[in-house]
Amino acid sequence: MVISVASGKGGTGKTLVATNLALSLAGEDRVQLLDCDVEEPDAHIFLKPVINQSKPVFIPIPQVDEEKCTHCGKCAEVCAYNAIAVIKNKVLVFPELCHGCGACSYLCPEDAIKEVGREIGVVEIGNSKGIDFIHGKLNIGEAMAPPIIREVKKHVEPGRTTIIDVPPGTSCPVVEAVKESGFCLLVTEPTPFGLNDLILAVEMVRELGVSCGVVLNRAGVGDKKVEDYCLKENIPILLQIPLDIEIARLYSKGIPLVENAPYWRETFLKLFHDIEQRAQSVSGSER
Ligand code: SF4
Ligand code: SF4
Repeated sequence: MVISVASGKGGTGKTLVATNLALSLAGEDRVQLLDCDVEEPDAHIFLKPVINQSKPVFIPIPQVDEEKCTHCGKCAEVCAYNAIAVIKNKVLVFPELCHGCGACSYLCPEDAIKEVGREIGVVEIGNSKGIDFIHGKLNIGEAMAPPIIREVKKHVEPGRTTIIDVPPGTSCPVVEAVKESGFCLLVTEPTPFGLNDLILAVEMVRELGVSCGVVLNRAGVGDKKVEDYCLKENIPILLQIPLDIEIARLYSKGIPLVENAPYWRETFLKLFHDIEQRAQSVSGSER
């Protein structure tokens, strides 16, 4: 089963949940951790993997053969991203804007466009404490996270437990990371900001048809509005992590909770079994 761990905003403790969930399973399951937060991957800080493979990620961008080009303007017309422009007798390509969709080369009537690879980041593969670890890293200054997320997700092995650390927010990279999950854990905190971003995240996962549950981090601060919302929307709160100075201290040192106290290993294992049961009952009711 693929379990994605998402949050409507950054800094809610998403990586804390994803890494501790993976570590709690490491002894009894063949678990994978995919860090798809490719703009700022940080699961490696907690898992400290040994990286043994590194693969650059390219997107195809157009290269125009000026000999063949008649400057008809068709390529600029079809580009939805303004990444190619035809001015007088010249075609200009703006590589940073190009999404590599291939429309311009496909539709060029003169066959004047070939595609060349442009490196936008890297996927690194390794192992940590019995967990297969894969993360993507987008090069600084690049904006195209989804192609790297797709490359990371190619490593999902059916039949295994895969935990995905999703980028924060609800934009395209988040959708790319969450789609096709068996279950999505939404990590939030009991504050007005937490509630606002949780509502957006719930709308997104529902649109994708993915079942979800909530992890309430820093429980004890703020108010009860997140709990009231979850009750009203019939969304289970599967785990509450208290606002606690010891948890903050461990987190700041990159020490996973499950490595500090058996209580947390049991708590995250229970979380996993709850998710498993819920995912099974949803797939059972769909049959
Ligand atoms: S579509 Fe082809 S021929 Fe027309 S301007 Fe673009 S590259 Fe040139
Ligand atoms: S590949 Fe797609 S995004 Fe890139 S320039 Fe061509 S049409 Fe535009």
